[in-house]
Amino acid sequence: MNIKGTITLKQGRDHSVKRLHPWVFSGAIQQTTDGLKDGDWVEVQDVSKKTLGFGHYQKGTITVRIVSFGAVPPGNSVYRSKIKVAFAQRLATQVISEYTNAFRLVHGEGDGLPGLIIDIYHDVAIVQAHSAGMHLVRNLVSDAIKMALEEKGFSVSAVYYKSLAEKSESEYLLGMAGVPHIVLEHGNKFYVDWEEGQKTGFFLDQRENRKLLGEMSKDKTVLNTFCYTGGFSVYALQNQAALVHSVDASEKAVVMTRKNLTLNGFDPQVHHCVASDTFDFIKDKKDVYDVIILDPPAFAKHKDARHQAIKGYQRLNTEVMKMIRSGGIIFTFSCSQVVDRQLFYDTVVSAGIQSGRQIKVLHHLSQPADHPVSLYHSEGEYLKGLVLYVE
Ligand code: SAH
Repeated sequence: MNIKGTITLKQGRDHSVKRLHPWVFSGAIQQTTDGLKDGDWVEVQDVSKKTLGFGHYQKGTITVRIVSFGAVPPGNSVYRSKIKVAFAQRLATQVISEYTNAFRLVHGEGDGLPGLIIDIYHDVAIVQAHSAGMHLVRNLVSDAIKMALEEKGFSVSAVYYKSLAEKSESEYLLGMAGVPHIVLEHGNKFYVDWEEGQKTGFFLDQRENRKLLGEMSKDKTVLNTFCYTGGFSVYALQNQAALVHSVDASEKAVVMTRKNLTLNGFDPQVHHCVASDTFDFIKDKKDVYDVIILDPPAFAKHKDARHQAIKGYQRLNTEVMKMIRSGGIIFTFSCSQVVDRQLFYDTVVSAGIQSGRQIKVLHHLSQPADHPVSLYHSEGEYLKGLVLYVE
């Protein structure tokens, strides 16, 4: 590994790195080697020149993402060894089984690889780099995935790099695989299209929450808003929901939902999938649904957008609390990293007050074991959910 320079932290601004938090903010830096380029490996030191770790440099608010803590510079094998550790954790925590072959292999900071996301869809790996450093090492990462999985008897037929920047930069780093690809999740089948779909093609983070929703759906009339590829809808139907309606603003997502219903033996002519804005759709639907899922996209991606986002969550939740049938159940989520659990809870409380209904909290939901959070990086916990009972 070629270390290109040194970042020296200000006196008193080295605590978070010493506490194994992987981000070095620009405001904490006293001195930077000249001529560094985005993605370069750098050494991070405290003011006394003690080495604290090594990471990827990138000009911006988060200037270094630390990949390796301590005084020993990592070699190129660092990706391989960390991916191996991540996979061992997925195996140990039984994320993968005869019934589930789609999982997140690497969840950025949660797996000690800031900026890197790897999702596995049966035998195809999708890699996303959220930093210049991870973009530059995508081929090393691809080789590491193949080695780590094959070592445990799993096969990897293709690795697809899905660029966040330019679609033309997306490419197969290894092999080739046709889309859509069928995966299994708790025995349910889903088509995944990583080339055209949002993010890596499927929202794996809702796996356990979908299962819980299924368990509460028997004989119920269910509305799945922001349905994307229909994950929650399929689980509701597998659990004998009476009727399921799915809504998403994206026509492509609605087409995929229809395909996924059909794939699992359900008729989209009966269980309608509608391309619509959720707010518009729910306007005239008072007392129609027993169970409603609200899983909107991140309303706030940055702190400056937080206030608007809160207003959005509040309005959405109030409207749904007002229109749901008596005895109804709401699964409400926020995946905005900048809206923490307490703030989301408080927002839902204020929505409840606005709705004027009696509401109980049945469950607090989060992200599953293949989306781990480092104990030292609480920002990694992004998915928050509540299951509410509306009297
Ligand atoms: N619940 C889904 C994931 C939801 S992702 C799952 O389990 O897979 C968020 C989805 O909201 C995206 O598909 C996006 O197209 C959709 N969306 C964004 N704004 C919307 C709006 N105003 N009304 C309806 N859908 C919207």
